[in-house]
Amino acid sequence: MPAALGAQAPVTYEVRFPNAVHHEAEITVTFADLPPGPLEVRMSRSSPGRYALHEFAKNVYSVSAEDGRGRALTIARPDPYGWTVAGHDGTVRFRYTLFADRADGTYSAIDLTHAHLNMPATFVWARGLEERPIRITFHPPAGSGWKAATQLVPTDDPMTFTAPNLQYFLDSPTELSAFTLREWTITSGGRTQTIRLAVHHAGTEEDVDRYTEMAQKVVAEQIAVFGEAPAFDYGTYTFIADYLPYASGDGMEHRNSTILTSSGSIAANAAGLLGTLSHEFFHAWNMERLRSRMLEPFDFERANMSDELWFGEGFTSYYDDLTIKRAGLMDLDEYARSIGAVLNAVINSPGRRYHSPVEMSRLAPFVDAAVSLDPTNRANTFLSYYTWGTAIGLGLDLTLRTRFRGITLDDYMRALWQRYGQPEIPYTIADLERALAEVTGDSAFAADFFDRYIRGRDVPDYEALLAHAGLLLRKANPGRPTLGQAQIRYDGGQAYLVSGTLVGTPLYEAGLDRGDRIISLAGRPVRSDDDVNAVLAAHAPGDVVEIRYEQRGREVTATLRLAEDPRLEVVTYERAGRPVTAEIRRFREAWLGSKAGAS
Ligand SMILES: [Zn+2]
Repeated sequence: MPAALGAQAPVTYEVRFPNAVHHEAEITVTFADLPPGPLEVRMSRSSPGRYALHEFAKNVYSVSAEDGRGRALTIARPDPYGWTVAGHDGTVRFRYTLFADRADGTYSAIDLTHAHLNMPATFVWARGLEERPIRITFHPPAGSGWKAATQLVPTDDPMTFTAPNLQYFLDSPTELSAFTLREWTITSGGRTQTIRLAVHHAGTEEDVDRYTEMAQKVVAEQIAVFGEAPAFDYGTYTFIADYLPYASGDGMEHRNSTILTSSGSIAANAAGLLGTLSHEFFHAWNMERLRSRMLEPFDFERANMSDELWFGEGFTSYYDDLTIKRAGLMDLDEYARSIGAVLNAVINSPGRRYHSPVEMSRLAPFVDAAVSLDPTNRANTFLSYYTWGTAIGLGLDLTLRTRFRGITLDDYMRALWQRYGQPEIPYTIADLERALAEVTGDSAFAADFFDRYIRGRDVPDYEALLAHAGLLLRKANPGRPTLGQAQIRYDGGQAYLVSGTLVGTPLYEAGLDRGDRIISLAGRPVRSDDDVNAVLAAHAPGDVVEIRYEQRGREVTATLRLAEDPRLEVVTYERAGRPVTAEIRRFREAWLGSKAGAS
């Protein structure tokens, strides 16, 4: 090939599944028109959106390489994630077997029903060729009836696709299976684009029709939040759903698609599945285009840290339920329950003693699918940036609605979209704060909000804020005593603490920890939950009782001060027997009513 063309030679992938039943793919990658010198072939160590190190090279084996004439080449191993190939003639044909048996948003799964491929978990690539175009051909097993669902760029051959560069390729998960497909178009910002929903499942066509209708409503509500749909790169967005008993529950955002996996079914749990669909589609704006500078460009060879997952994940989580509520697919009691669970977790979490939302975001590489043998103290020190961020989104939305006439969190999201998301300018926390100052016209408010709730560990006064919407934040079990949440396992009449104890709870203060055996409480031997409940029923919060326990072979007698059960819930004023005024109804409609079709 002439040199001028050679510089642009695509990297080509051929994928076959001769042993799908045992979860293997045979992959051949051809790197052509290479500059002289060794070729460094790599397997990714990380994957955007799932922040731990995954070491995908662990499932790669039977590796070989040959040159353009078919001569075997020697492979050196510089580290566990790479293969260095020297002595080539400008072409390296690199072959390997991949094992893959987990269908979710990060890993891959191959069997006789599908090849569910997340690209970083599946495909090697070469350093220095990141900007080359990519061409990939899938060869499904004969008679499988597999089609392809992907954001990769189609060609005339239904099983051959291209990508403009490595970043796009690695962002383009591909499902090969006999899935059910639904399509509809959306028109916004003068563009008509196609939304596809590919569902690989064991359910019926009617299930998919019903689910498609729900998805359409949520998509419309989310477009209304931002004022326009993103301009998808090839005019199409694809939901790729695997709802199969052998899939693992997950959702993962990409630029023009998402992976949705669950072991549940549309028939049994359409509403639950819709929550993930809603979350991931919102990411098409908030994460995929409105994106933290710390995640750009994503480095596939190390863990990637950012300060803003409380926003990227947390605000997205706030909107996933909110837009389902606005779409009329969730009732107010359910929405109140959902808010209550979030606020209970945030307000009662000991994690806020240790870290701010910014610092929680930085922990993602340790908490997001990270697995090690040694225990952590995360139950005490960590509060999910999803949960905390949801609460911050709620707190900011209600604060804007009550303090600034006619301004809502939707206005803030739209301002961020126009400034950073639509033009794809990565943001910093300072940018997020500045935008809040501009939307409200009050830079002191913005600085105070970020100091207290984003860089600090404070929480807004949710009770007062929710009252505007006729929602009551209250203790779920007022006056009821508790030892503090702890998991006790009863084994042969003995009571063992299975979990660590939580900072500030009676058990923690009395010195108990994981593995301890509780002998007696207030003089009563503890052999079952009935014994614990009998002691609690006979006491009130604040009472001091004796606790005897065995720890590391030593028997300890201590005093324990019972606390009031701190758990919180949110209920509607209707349920609480409080009057629902016209003002409350107006507030609810402005906040939770449909916005689609209004513009
Ligand atoms: Zn997310």
